[in-house]
Amino acid sequence: MSHPHYPHLFTPLNLGYCELPNRVLMGSMHTGLEDKSKDFPKLAKYFAERAEGGVGLIVTGGFAPNIVGWLKPFGGMMKFPWEVKKHRLVTDAVHAAGGRICLQILHAGRYGYSPLQVAPSRLKSPINPFTPKALTARGVENQIRSFVNSAVLAREAGYDGVEIMGSEGYLINEFLSPATNLRTDDFGGDAAKRMRFAVEIVRRVREAVGKDFIIIYRLSMIDLVPGANAWDEVVMQAQAIEDAGATIINTGIGWHEARIPTIATSVPRAAFTGITARLKPHVSLPLVTSNRINMPETAEAVLSNGEADMVSMARPFLADSHWIHKAKNGQRDSINTCIACNQACLDHVFEGKNATCLVNPRACRETEIIVKRASSPRRVAVVGAGPAGLSAAVTAAECGHAVTLFEGRDELGGQFNLAMKIPGKEEFLETMRYYRTRLDALNVDVRLNAHVNADDLADFDHVVVATGVAPRVISLDGADHPKVVDYQQVLRGEVEVGKRVAIVGAGGIGFDVSEFLVHEGVSPSLDAALWREEWGVDLNYTDNRGGLKKPNVEPPAREVWLLQRTDGKPGAKLGKTTGWIHRATLKQKRVHMLGGVTYQRVDDAGLHIDVGGESKVLPVDHVVICAGQVSVRSLADDLEAAGKSYSIIGGADVAAELDAKRAIEQGVLTAIAIA
Ligand code: FAD
Ligand code: NAP
Ligand code: SF4
Repeated sequence: MSHPHYPHLFTPLNLGYCELPNRVLMGSMHTGLEDKSKDFPKLAKYFAERAEGGVGLIVTGGFAPNIVGWLKPFGGMMKFPWEVKKHRLVTDAVHAAGGRICLQILHAGRYGYSPLQVAPSRLKSPINPFTPKALTARGVENQIRSFVNSAVLAREAGYDGVEIMGSEGYLINEFLSPATNLRTDDFGGDAAKRMRFAVEIVRRVREAVGKDFIIIYRLSMIDLVPGANAWDEVVMQAQAIEDAGATIINTGIGWHEARIPTIATSVPRAAFTGITARLKPHVSLPLVTSNRINMPETAEAVLSNGEADMVSMARPFLADSHWIHKAKNGQRDSINTCIACNQACLDHVFEGKNATCLVNPRACRETEIIVKRASSPRRVAVVGAGPAGLSAAVTAAECGHAVTLFEGRDELGGQFNLAMKIPGKEEFLETMRYYRTRLDALNVDVRLNAHVNADDLADFDHVVVATGVAPRVISLDGADHPKVVDYQQVLRGEVEVGKRVAIVGAGGIGFDVSEFLVHEGVSPSLDAALWREEWGVDLNYTDNRGGLKKPNVEPPAREVWLLQRTDGKPGAKLGKTTGWIHRATLKQKRVHMLGGVTYQRVDDAGLHIDVGGESKVLPVDHVVICAGQVSVRSLADDLEAAGKSYSIIGGADVAAELDAKRAIEQGVLTAIAIA
């Protein structure tokens, strides 16, 4: 019988020698746990929890086939027979949980962060300081053999298959593109020669591993870099890969050096699935589509439109290991949705830390963070329903405590309610829906409009203070002028903001408020066609290579000046993988971004500043203060004075460098520790 809500998602897929239970692939995601042998038990538990949660087919993070293919020195590699044993931990754990798992073989090519890297031609990538060596003919043959060797070892290690990473601008993709492959031998030149490397790898891997082994090939559908593959070449590659013996083609979108966001939260859901749909008539093996699919209704729509045979999701399984079971069992609202923030996954990996998840701090730490029933349940009050308080309340209830959650305002969410008003941050709504559902399911006593003090909390055994932050009030001549407002007043719609605005403070919130003020009408993040126009993405490849066209950006709704006192360009401290997107968006909207500013005063003429040794008046209607925040901690002080048992978390604890990642993690860890 077909599933009542998601019939396509839950139709099994027959691969000939095996059947997958549903149409979801857990896509490859580097977590950092792959890089050290000692972390393999953690990796095994991480994957096993996802297999238990119903994922039918998992792909590991990338393993290099040899040293010159390393993503970074001493990164995960599948080269030597002695490496097989540790992988057995992973494959056994996944199989015991009823899942299947493929090893991804990723040769970094010129993206390898090491002087050993190799590429088809000696061309440096714009995102890597190292220049690659051009492979000799023998070198090319050695790389092919290394892929085959890794696949054979993967089979010995118990994997159900391999994924050959042929997209995102890594080595195979570099061979495919005329922009990075200038060779004149049998592996360079016309499209047929450029794809020979990829085809040989697939053909020889199939020869070596036999028939009953999954080979997924990750094909770049749209490179999003100038001069790269044309559409007819992508089709040709797909057909040749099918003929060479692949089982499934998975979709890759954009090279890492592309200046177009492909997975960030501001990218609309399923913005790129149309390109997989274009390939469907040209091949007969199953096609997997990907990028910004995070909820079952989105996946179902893509599948029911016939755009692909499967969907790939990676980060959504960091956020919720039981996504599949919840979707299948009618518990869609209790899915902890990936909000595509990148803050705890990709940003961590780029900073050399292990990945985890902003909305699920247990991700990749399943053996360390264990939520279990408390031996003596307590009466726990949580004060403040921002991200910190919500996560503490839910986790404390999961531990069996009787929890009452007090919130002074008339809605749950704290500062997250402001964050979700920013164009491109609409996904944050999902986190609030998740917490509301969980609070309900766990019978947490939620009291809204309940601004409480220490006296109100006398009956509780323990109080978690999650009272958050308030905007910093700065000393500025004319701060009481009617032009001066703070970001909360603006985002709550308490002021009608004029057409010319100065923003004091260029941290995350200054950038967000700028985006809020320059946009008008529908958010491009909610309209994929509009978003593709703004970023110059052409899924039709009209007269171009790489799928690029001239961006067509709506004019800004206001003239905005974004200011900071620190010298240099604003935005230097924004997230590693998303900061450039915020800067590019504001540049498109012609925001004036100024560093090294001294604020003089505000008066009827506007904001008077000194910058670069010059005095200026910015003739603005409003000055919006986004100068950071201070902790709201008077409740904690009162509880301390009264000798009450309490913990303090989130912004109430430390306001500096606060983000929801810390707030939610602290909520979970504090709740687990309540004894
Ligand atoms: P808060 O969110 O401040 O919540 C505290 C709550 O306590 C409030 O609801 C308040 O009403 C309540 N309260 C206070 N005193 C009492 C009392 N005595 N009784 C009852 N209730 C009380 N973070 C990210 O990680 N990524 C982002 O992309 C991001 N974007 C943002 C964009 C904007 C525009 C803003 C404003 C913030 C953004 N943040 C982002 C920051 C994030 O929202 C905060 O880090 C987070 O909300 C802090 O959580 P908290 O629970 O500590 O405090
Ligand atoms: P912030 O990042 O600390 O930035 C505060 C800004 O105000 C700085 O640009 C600072 O720059 C300026 N400032 C500080 N004191 C000032 C003063 N007395 N007078 C004038 N200017 C002053 O804080 P935020 O922007 O409020 O963000 C708060 C937290 O929310 C951040 O820690 C961030 O992690 C989180 N957040 C994250 C995101 C995200 O996308 N990840 C988005 C929004 C918010 P100068 O000192 O140079 O002037
Ligand atoms: Fe998704 Fe953010 Fe979690 Fe990464 S950290 S998995 S992007 S919610």
